[in-house]
Amino acid sequence: MSSTIQEDHPGVADAAAAREAFAAWVEAAEEGRVFGQVRVKAVEPGIYSLRHVEDAGNSDLRLHEDPREAREISKTTEGGEYRPLKSSPNLRRGWELRVSGAVDLVVAMNYLYPAGVVHWHAHREGRLEVTSYRENAARQSGIYKRVQRLSDEGVQDTARACCEDAVCLKQTLWDVDEETPLVMDRGEGDIPCPEPCSVFVSLARRVRLFEREKKRDLDAIGLSPSEKEDLAALVEAAATGHVDFAREAEFEKPLNERRMRYRRLTLAPKLRPEAQPVSSA
Ligand code: SF4
Repeated sequence: MSSTIQEDHPGVADAAAAREAFAAWVEAAEEGRVFGQVRVKAVEPGIYSLRHVEDAGNSDLRLHEDPREAREISKTTEGGEYRPLKSSPNLRRGWELRVSGAVDLVVAMNYLYPAGVVHWHAHREGRLEVTSYRENAARQSGIYKRVQRLSDEGVQDTARACCEDAVCLKQTLWDVDEETPLVMDRGEGDIPCPEPCSVFVSLARRVRLFEREKKRDLDAIGLSPSEKEDLAALVEAAATGHVDFAREAEFEKPLNERRMRYRRLTLAPKLRPEAQPVSSA
């Protein structure tokens, strides 16, 4: 994806300014700051402690002093699954990173939240360029080209399924297009999201397949083949007590959290039309 910062002189100077601003922001709060799921705090001038926000009072943490170790920490969930989206609220616990200086602080943060600091800084300065869904989709090619035909309603439902705080801690800044804002809870976090990410585009591709199916393949009671596949998987899981959840970006599988969040928005109302719409969070 293209750069998302408007700059006359991009590069090193901007990264340095972001780094210094971030370190100053952290140091200005005695109790530290929360960035995504990380509490980052200056324990003495120029020395920073980073840990999972839920480990704030935990003294039994594994200590790391090399900021590059944040790469391993961010790679897998508590259960050992690969994390394709670093802003998902599934960062593992049990570690502390203690680093010295703003450079190492931002090296660690960049492994935990790639581009998070530079986007945070550009957004605070009003220089973060935001790319709408339609602009992003126009650049897609190959198997992703079909996302260009996703309906506005499909984009809205995909965003609510994919981007709300329950599944992504970034604050969604982009819209469907210039005239069509996203109607959703955009999140409260400090890390801005200026453009649909690859996980979003992958789910959008799946939702476009669902839209095509709805036009061609509905049965007598108005269900599509993939809706029936998902319902059958849920019945099986409930009957056996064995829920084999799909991985985070495996949208082709029924028991995927974001796919199920999409079904909650689009299938549940069809099955129970008299029920009040549920919150998508
Ligand atoms: S597009 Fe959505 S899921 Fe992807 S990073 Fe942005 S807010 Fe998160």
